[in-house]
Amino acid sequence: MLAVTRVMSRDRPFGRSPWPWASLGGVAALRNELPDAADRTTIAEVDLVVDPPGDASYWDDIDPVWRECFELAWESFRHHSIPVGAVLVDPHGAVVARGRNRRSERTAPSGQIAGSNLAHAEINALAGLPPGDYSAHVLHTTLEPCFLCTAAIRHSHIGVVRFAAPDPAWAGIERLPTLNPTFARRWPRRDGPLGGPLQRLAVILHLVSSLERGADAVVDCHQELSPDLVRLARGLVGARAHELRSMSFAEAVELLSQYRSGT
Ligand SMILES: [Zn+2]
Repeated sequence: MLAVTRVMSRDRPFGRSPWPWASLGGVAALRNELPDAADRTTIAEVDLVVDPPGDASYWDDIDPVWRECFELAWESFRHHSIPVGAVLVDPHGAVVARGRNRRSERTAPSGQIAGSNLAHAEINALAGLPPGDYSAHVLHTTLEPCFLCTAAIRHSHIGVVRFAAPDPAWAGIERLPTLNPTFARRWPRRDGPLGGPLQRLAVILHLVSSLERGADAVVDCHQELSPDLVRLARGLVGARAHELRSMSFAEAVELLSQYRSGT
């Protein structure tokens, strides 16, 4: 995970960007409207989560599987579905399945679900998997699997699940295998959260989506763990979220990664 400290200035508060900004006049206006903008121009040094120009960009350096997960989550966000993406890799690291949340959409690839509360990313990634032993496979997902997806992962005999961000709405779910031997059998190893900018990005998108759906109980679950991200997400709903959705994924990452969690 790359993180650098870059000296900032008032006339160019974000320094040089590794992303294409040529057509982002509207984005500059959006940045100025984001929460804590007033504070930002008074900060002499800010920890950024992107590499200096000339080096490999932060995004180019992350695991391609995670990159695909987040690109899938971004597609869900742009379609007003819940922004979660999931990718399954085999023991050699080859991608064998992928899926994203399609709750608010009408179409899905063959064998996947759209327009349903069950159209979760992990479900869509695993739905087409033939029965078999996947104990050496790894499912990557941008958000800690919910109760539904945890059951699907277990029933698909997936060996490992890696998640970028925690979902405190499901706190304690890791204790399910202590209930009885059936839960414990084939219970996947759980790796996560990732921490860093990917975790923050996953949480921000999830919170904005939750606020838009009026899922206040979900947001409340994140308040204690990530109060600053909740505050940021509240500042992004409405017209700002609409503008975010007009961006490419790279542009959105560049914008959102400017904000640190404060942790
Ligand atoms: Zn789920």
